[in-house]
Amino acid sequence: MNIALSLSPGTSVMGDCFRCDRSGLQTIRAGVMTSPGGPGHVAGETPIFVCRACERALLARHMEAQTSPARPYVRPGLHHPH
Ligand SMILES: [Zn+2]
Repeated sequence: MNIALSLSPGTSVMGDCFRCDRSGLQTIRAGVMTSPGGPGHVAGETPIFVCRACERALLARHMEAQTSPARPYVRPGLHHPH
């Protein structure tokens, strides 16, 4: 199963929030959940909806990730600064 988030302003619908599990509130489409086809099951695509509060939280985390990219490794020969 894969989850692809693509936050973009769009029409909001009443529904359940994917992130915080609240239901019956205004949500926007935040991405899509996909699963590949295979023996016993067919490929599927399910849209993901989140509430406004979670949209902001996800956006904030996204901005954070862009401004301070995590280093997956430390280059040889360089000591950690602390
Ligand atoms: Zn939420």
